[in-house]
Amino acid sequence: MLMALFAHGQEVHWPGGQQAAIVLTYDDALPSQLDKAVPQLKKAGLRATFFLTSDIDSLSIPRWRKLAHQRFELGNHTVFHPCSGRDDNPVPSEAYTAYRIIREIEVMDRFLFAVDGRIKRTFAYPCAETFVGGRDYVDSLRKYKLVKYARAGGDSSSVITDFEQLDTLRVPSYGLEGGESGQQLIAFVKSVEQKGGLGVIMFHGIGADYITVSAEAHQQLVSYLQKHQKTIWVPTFQQAMDEVYRQVKRPKATQNVTISK
Ligand SMILES: [Zn+2]
Repeated sequence: MLMALFAHGQEVHWPGGQQAAIVLTYDDALPSQLDKAVPQLKKAGLRATFFLTSDIDSLSIPRWRKLAHQRFELGNHTVFHPCSGRDDNPVPSEAYTAYRIIREIEVMDRFLFAVDGRIKRTFAYPCAETFVGGRDYVDSLRKYKLVKYARAGGDSSSVITDFEQLDTLRVPSYGLEGGESGQQLIAFVKSVEQKGGLGVIMFHGIGADYITVSAEAHQQLVSYLQKHQKTIWVPTFQQAMDEVYRQVKRPKATQNVTISK
């Protein structure tokens, strides 16, 4: 829907002169990401971003911390992952206000600081929903200035080419539904290459857990990206957005928003 706006506009030149950038993101702190995705990414020398909730514990925190000290980014995905109208989500977002979710994002920011010691943090909306309690909170989040870049949802048409129109707090992504083949994942990368833009992929389980892409399909994508490193840049979400921001963005004007409690 938003994609029509992205048809023409200012281009971004990626640091190594690549024609496209692909950002790999993994949500919900799932064990299969550590067990299956990370070894593949490490072997290929690729970067990625992991959007974590408080669903991390004394066993997994040392593993996430280790990743943060390598080439990976730990992003914020709230403490409790509130979503609307879903049976499979423990925390409903209907009773949330903008203030409540922003405070929750702030608490997760401090939690993640304790994990990796970093101050700059990107964010991904739980269930790709930019609203709570029936109201959009993106402008409240913008006003709070806690988060500079946030990943939203989308499908395989989410190829960003008009960076001037891009709202850095509503960065669209290709939200996988599970079961995609390696070929399908590579087809998305090729469409980003053809258009010369930025594509962000949203993964959940890799070879296990839920909304799962098989470890084989993931490996095929990873191998393709490794093989095409001269033409495709694979940065973290933060690195990609920093580059966009540096070259194109003035932040969108904050409207007159009150953050109601
Ligand atoms: Zn999630």
